[in-house]
Amino acid sequence: MKILLVGAGLSGAVIGRQLAEAGHDCRIIDSRPHIGGNCHTERDPETGVMLHLYGPHIFHTDDAGVWDYVNRFAEFVPFQNRVKTTSQGAVYSLPVNLHTINQFFGKTLRPDEARAFIESRADRSIAEPQSFEEQALRFVGPELYEAFFKGYTEKQWGCSPRELPASILKRLPLRFNYDDNYFFHRFQGMPRAGYTAMVAAILDHPRISVELETPYRAEMAEQADHLFWSGPLDGFFDYSLGRLGYRTLDFERFTYQGDYQGCAVMNYGDRDVPWTRITEHKHFSPWESHEASTCYREYSRAAGPGDIPYYPIRLVEEKSLLAQYVDLAQAQKGVTFVGRLGTYRYLDMDVTIREALDTAAVFLGRPSIPAFC
Ligand code: FAD
Ligand code: UDP
Repeated sequence: MKILLVGAGLSGAVIGRQLAEAGHDCRIIDSRPHIGGNCHTERDPETGVMLHLYGPHIFHTDDAGVWDYVNRFAEFVPFQNRVKTTSQGAVYSLPVNLHTINQFFGKTLRPDEARAFIESRADRSIAEPQSFEEQALRFVGPELYEAFFKGYTEKQWGCSPRELPASILKRLPLRFNYDDNYFFHRFQGMPRAGYTAMVAAILDHPRISVELETPYRAEMAEQADHLFWSGPLDGFFDYSLGRLGYRTLDFERFTYQGDYQGCAVMNYGDRDVPWTRITEHKHFSPWESHEASTCYREYSRAAGPGDIPYYPIRLVEEKSLLAQYVDLAQAQKGVTFVGRLGTYRYLDMDVTIREALDTAAVFLGRPSIPAFC
């Protein structure tokens, strides 16, 4: 069959690879001048540092099938994300752990004592937290909420944490030991040659052709037996019902001779600092050595037409619009909507790959790669 895949990010690349291996001809197009989608990495010509152009990407998963899959196409170097945050004139460790708690409150608590102490600050009248703010007040208490989460979240999402779902905060662990690993997954790493080299290896198959700087046009679908769409869901329908809300990011690049901040990610919890975080990209490749450094100050704002959609805002308004677009998508014959834009969900890379593998398996009528082995 002739397959058209819109988007050369992880979704398009993995589905294309699986179908090509099964004997289908896959044409993959992308409007951008590079493959890799939002995971794209490239070297800074000035400093030589490997840059995560659309924001920092750390691979982490519990899915052994996905981990095996990515290791077929790239060499992964073990990497753990250790994030710091600056708040009210001091630097702390994230996610909130025993070090953060002891430093913040000027104490020397042991794990059980810290648990009891935080529980004593928490608002126990909140039985089932609904909003981000309730989740924070219930589990970390007002002081840590104000210092680390309130201002950052207002900047990141452009609204009050009272309007956001509790699920956003649940992504972050709260630890009563000194483990400062940002993620808790079994497999964590960074591709030695960058994500774009990994995606290039996935795409390297004689039945796959890739066309860059090629935006989708409706007539392209007429030459294909099936279309996989990893572009924006509302974009496929020319935004006919209105635009699904997204946050976009602006990155302000600067260079530095030496080590600017001593870590890959420094968050800024204070509301009056306009950026959410600074990423220093050479710390994402600690096996390389560069004297010069490239950093990005990251700012979040509402996405308008023409901006890159980064974070789907799934508030009440968007959810009803989304339901209407999902109805349209389900009525569409010969098109499968995939990936974080095609399904309007925040998806980590491992989940994106898992869904792409499963989608390809369903299309081929075969079992997918198991998640556990
Ligand atoms: P995308 O990568 O967005 O690819 C879609 C592609 O489709 C794009 O290249 C786009 O140009 C193309 N396209 C769209 N419309 C058209 C059109 N009309 N015509 C032609 N081409 C089109 N995940 C992790 O696991 N760890 C992390 O640390 C992590 N950090 C992240 C940080 C940020 C700031 C963000 C936003 C995401 C992060 N993610 C992370 C998630 C990760 O980026 C996604 O899981 C992944 O990129 C999704 O791949 P995709 O192929 O579905 O979408
Ligand atoms: N968050 C925060 N302060 C921080 C880090 C995160 O308030 O220093 C909040 C913020 O609302 C963010 C959410 O916790 O969206 C989840 O954090 P994560 O690191 O998963 O952020 P994302 O990957 O969404 O950028």
